[in-house]
Amino acid sequence: MAPQTVFWKTNRAGPIRKVIMTKDGVRTEPVAMMYEYVGYVKSESTPGLVYHTVVRITVDRMGKASLAGYTCECKGFTFDKMCKHIKALYNAVERDARNRAQKDLKDIAETEQLMDKARSATFNLEL
Ligand SMILES: [Zn+2]
Repeated sequence: MAPQTVFWKTNRAGPIRKVIMTKDGVRTEPVAMMYEYVGYVKSESTPGLVYHTVVRITVDRMGKASLAGYTCECKGFTFDKMCKHIKALYNAVERDARNRAQKDLKDIAETEQLMDKARSATFNLEL
């Protein structure tokens, strides 16, 4: 059985952008979202002990989630790098990250389309 995640919250979020060359210049396009989650995960061996654990998850436009970074204060992390608390927190928040990314990437795309429209409207006025 995996250790239980007793609390988690989103700490930071932001898009990962790809730089694209166009005939009008350089623009960027969001290709994925990155979310950082902090959580507390119960120790299996010591009752009452919880570990402060952090995972960073990227979610691409196809909805594929990947573990991009992590840390845990347990001894296992110090020696093995990847401990079961990190896996437990990742499993607890993966669905949330995928749901957020679907909405956030759509919102960013819509906002940028509006900004493009506003920019071309401005250019037309200058002509
Ligand atoms: Zn750990």
